[in-house]
Order: sequence, then C-alpha cells, then structure tokens
Amino acid sequence: MTENTRAFHDLREALNQPGCPVCRLVERDTGRYLDNLLWENVNDPGLRGEIRRALGFCREHTRMLVSRPGASLGLALIARDVWGEVQRATETARLPAPKARRARAADLAAGLLARLTPRGECPACAYARAMEDLYLDILLERLLGEDGLLAAYQASGGLCLPHFRQALTRVQDSAVYAALVEAQRAIGQRRLAELDEFIRKNDYRFRDEPWGRERDAWLRAFNALVGGLLS
Ligand SMILES: [Zn+2]
Ligand SMILES: [Zn+2]
Repeated sequence: MTENTRAFHDLREALNQPGCPVCRLVERDTGRYLDNLLWENVNDPGLRGEIRRALGFCREHTRMLVSRPGASLGLALIARDVWGEVQRATETARLPAPKARRARAADLAAGLLARLTPRGECPACAYARAMEDLYLDILLERLLGEDGLLAAYQASGGLCLPHFRQALTRVQDSAVYAALVEAQRAIGQRRLAELDEFIRKNDYRFRDEPWGRERDAWLRAFNALVGGLLS
C-alpha cells in the first residue's frame, strides 16, 4: 500500500470518529514519530543537531514526550545536549570590562539573547506539519468522484478551524473548493443548532427534557476552534 493509499483509508476511518480527522491522524502519527525518536533515532547525529538548534521541543510535544513510558534515558540524553548548548552560550556571554561598566546592558544582553533563541523549529512540529499537508492534500484530491470522501466528510464534524484554513491554502480546484465550503457550511449550521439547543436546555423551564447529541456541543465547538483532541 502506498503512503497515499494508506492516508486515504485512514482519512475515511477518521471521518467516522469524533473530532477533526486531520488532528486525530496527525496526533497518532506524531506519537509514533516521538516513539521512533526515543527508541531508534535518539543517537542519530543529524536529529540531535536539529533538536539542539531548536533548543528542544515546543511545549505540546514536550508534554507528549515526557508522558511516554520508559522514555527517561532518551530524554536525559536530549536534555543533556540542549542544556550543554545553553550552558556554552551563557559561559561565553560577553560581560562588560571592569572599567567599562557603562557599556550598554541592552547590547550585551541582545548578544546572549540571540544565542538563547531557537534557530530551528521543534522537529515534531515540522514533522506534524508535513503530515497535515499530506492528509489535507489527499482529502482535497479524493473529496469528489466515485468512492470520494465527500459523503463521509458531510456526515462528520468537519475539519477544525486551523486545518480548514490550512486546506484553503492548498485547494487548487474550484469544484473541490465549492464542495468543501458547502460541506463546512452545513457542518457549521449543525454546530450552531446544537449549541443553541444546549443553551436552551439549560433554561430551568426545559430542564426535564432528556439530553441528546448537544450534551457536549460546547466541548466539540472549542475543540474545533483550536484543533487537537480535548476531552
Ligand atoms: Zn484539525
Ligand atoms: Zn512541536
């Protein structure tokens, strides 16, 4: 199975599950990427250099990394590398000469600041973005046509807003653009109706009515605003 065929099948499956399909798949893939990094690639000099230049990982991916069981040795090696880099920068930082205390602190500090600023992107973010592009391109390429993903998309909760914006930067075909926007409109109307229903049922006059799908509409709505999988 080629990577694209696998991505197509994964997308179809993810569209049947709650939340943004691209967020779901990228979260899964990034988890695997981090596992590989810890268990197989931790001694890869190229990757270690990338991590050093980025001064580690972003907060989200650091959280994912430290929650992986048995990761402590790999993480200690990485932390040793990055803090070694930080230490070199602070130890070699220029200080004002004893008689030149009037040297501008701001200029000296700017030099150190530059060396303490990441020179590269979090490697897991770079990986995740490449995967997002792949899934979005497949979604757009295979939306229409026989066996296309449109019906599954229409029935789903749609892309989160960040991934919808990203899809808009990649769409090439006007029929695909129209189908995507129409589907997103219908999904948006359902979302608004569910939020209205949730709000209505919180009125004491309707409190005895049983809850339906709108029960967690507020959570799904926030999830769709930022992406990721809140629960
Ligand atoms: Zn998303
Ligand atoms: Zn990251």
